[in-house]
Amino acid sequence: MVILADEYGFCFGVERALEIAGDALGKHGSIEIAGEIIHNGRVREELAKKGLSHRDSAGGIMGKKALVRAHGMGRKTRELLVSRGVALIDATCPVVQRVYDEALECEEKGIAPVIFGNPGHPEIAGVIDHLKNRPVVISPEDDFKKTRLPERFVLIAQTTAPEERFIELAEHCGRSGMDFTVVNTICPVVRKRKEAGSRLAETCGLIIVAGARASANTKGLADYLSRFRPTIQVESAEEIRGMDFGRSEKIGLISGTSTPGEVVEEIFDDIEKKIVYKT
Ligand code: SF4
Repeated sequence: MVILADEYGFCFGVERALEIAGDALGKHGSIEIAGEIIHNGRVREELAKKGLSHRDSAGGIMGKKALVRAHGMGRKTRELLVSRGVALIDATCPVVQRVYDEALECEEKGIAPVIFGNPGHPEIAGVIDHLKNRPVVISPEDDFKKTRLPERFVLIAQTTAPEERFIELAEHCGRSGMDFTVVNTICPVVRKRKEAGSRLAETCGLIIVAGARASANTKGLADYLSRFRPTIQVESAEEIRGMDFGRSEKIGLISGTSTPGEVVEEIFDDIEKKIVYKT
């Protein structure tokens, strides 16, 4: 039996970015974007046909209209593009925007923002680019005891960062008597997805997480659920076709927040066809 999580498919931030992109393409015909709009090849191809051209970075934008994706864009890059005459269409997710705003507000008040997240992630790169001074960035993999922190700081998290590690970091800072405050900017949709996955893990022997390997929230969800049950991550129904589920126990199916709902439903149908139910 396959049990579909009560939460799957796009989050509101991705839905909103795709709507803004669709409206803008309808109005302007062709637009560029730095990086992938979402980590899904099918959606990317559909939008490319409508006129969305993906560039590797903001430096590659040659035209006069560019879409800012849900991950946001730092102030310095925005200013550079605007100075080159590029009109920006902003699809930054409001939850992500809060990370940028909180970090900038701290800096302007003279308190150091300390960012918890993956230094290689576009959201963190955007926040670094947004600030005047380079902030301390702490990765979830870091040994917190070895991290040097400013005298007074505000802890801010990447929206898709592992919350349990963020709490551990805050506890470590508290135990060490540091002068700091916490702004928990972790996305509530990401949190709810983990909760929905945990509910599946209570009754299912295997969890399948659908979504791109390049997607931070999908990988984070799969890593989190693998603590409770064997968990596999797949990008599409095609990947499921080569797998043998045999006479399987209950399988739980959930997705990251940038995975189209129809991809999850295709995977659901495919597993259903493969399972030989116990009698
Ligand atoms: S996962 Fe959360 S922060 Fe990221 S785009 Fe979706 S709603 Fe926004």
